[in-house]
Amino acid sequence: MNTDYFALLEKTLHYTKEYLDNIEAMPAFPEKASLDDLKQFEEPLPVAATQAARVIEALHTLGSKGTTAQTGGRYFGFVNGGLLPVAHAAQWLIDTWNQNSALYLMSPVASKLEDLCERWLAELFGLSKDTAAGLVTGSSNAIICALAAARNHICAKQGYDIKQNGLKNAPPIKIVTSEQAHSTVWTALSLLGFGVSEIDTAPVDDWGKIKLDKLPPLDANTILIIQAGNVVGGAYDPINELCDLAKKADAWVHIDGAFGLWAGASDKQSHLVKGIEKADSFSVDAHKTLNAAYDCGIVLCRNRQALTNAMQASGSYIPYSEERDNMLYTTEMSRRARGVVLWATLKHLGKTGIAALIDNLCAQTEDFADKLQNKGFVIINKPVFNQFIFKCELPEKTRQVLEAVQKSGVCWCGSGNWQGKPVIRVSVCSHRTTTADIDKSVAAFEKAYSYFSN
Ligand SMILES: *Cc1c(COP(=O)(O)O)cnc(C)c1O
Repeated sequence: MNTDYFALLEKTLHYTKEYLDNIEAMPAFPEKASLDDLKQFEEPLPVAATQAARVIEALHTLGSKGTTAQTGGRYFGFVNGGLLPVAHAAQWLIDTWNQNSALYLMSPVASKLEDLCERWLAELFGLSKDTAAGLVTGSSNAIICALAAARNHICAKQGYDIKQNGLKNAPPIKIVTSEQAHSTVWTALSLLGFGVSEIDTAPVDDWGKIKLDKLPPLDANTILIIQAGNVVGGAYDPINELCDLAKKADAWVHIDGAFGLWAGASDKQSHLVKGIEKADSFSVDAHKTLNAAYDCGIVLCRNRQALTNAMQASGSYIPYSEERDNMLYTTEMSRRARGVVLWATLKHLGKTGIAALIDNLCAQTEDFADKLQNKGFVIINKPVFNQFIFKCELPEKTRQVLEAVQKSGVCWCGSGNWQGKPVIRVSVCSHRTTTADIDKSVAAFEKAYSYFSN
């Protein structure tokens, strides 16, 4: 039985090598012909079986070309992270194990390593030692977990058990969040029963930071949601000051730091997140800045009990143990052992390597912005962390240039809207990005820029 199995894996390793060997030559976004080829996947639900080797072969020949070159050095779209070899390899091994990491009894190793990740992350971000961590698909889910903990905790403070008695008669909870909160914050709030019209939005300045003097009043029933890293432009809210105001009011502070919380792991960048240890909960992604494999979101909560109270599921067949049961910290029960991949990444890089990874992303970002400015582009905000936005003098030209560069396949940047005008967004997220990648990308923008001038 294993002979065919191993042959399949060996073939897959071969495809993997081919893909990785080609990654720098590959267009950052698939060419039209490759996109058209995806149509070849179309067919009715097959009735007959297909050999596994044929399925994987089709996946490689049609599928690999249909990917964005995200693991290369010139994909700057969204805030999609690259992939460190150690994370890739660890991912392979856990696929081999196929562990369900919900309970200690289902996977002792997943429990052990997630426990370590929890401690290491608290130390890395400078949070209190007992901070709880849950590993989820991404920040979208981490925000839900954190805000559920916050909501339930505020109700409990007033003697109200929301799990038992529901939302309808719950004491009023005030939500304050930035005008510029990430869309996933709004989704999480709506899932938790908070409608848009019930939410107090905090006005922001020209860069997207909450204005301290315009902050709506906070009280002990408030959840204040702030951000470490705006997805358009990178701005960090004034975390230290906001946490102080919230603490005075006894409000709960959640920090959405999906990519930006990692600033806390670099001495050069940690000024951006000064004061985070005063917040109550956090959401952050290891698949973004850390370049660990998708999908690996993290919810961190200073009050362990608040998180586990909100998340705990029960059932006579669920045997919790004395060891860590990972499902206590998240909305998910069955799930892959993403903690093992996270552990491998943290262990491989160490504190120094993590800081070096982050510092390199930030340095490449600055270099990118400087070089574009030298070529006549308008850099709208000075780079913050790994993000900046830029444009041409005229909105129409910004659109044309971006479209031409995207089509060229040399690099891929996304579009954005800043104060009503189109902008080009850059997120430098891959450990593979080198100065040569920046130079090639700048040259592509320069070429498009001069083309449209004529
Ligand atoms: C990416 C991102 C999210 C959502 O995270 P996912 O991992 O995609 O679920 C939330 N907030 C910010 C600021 C982000 O950059």
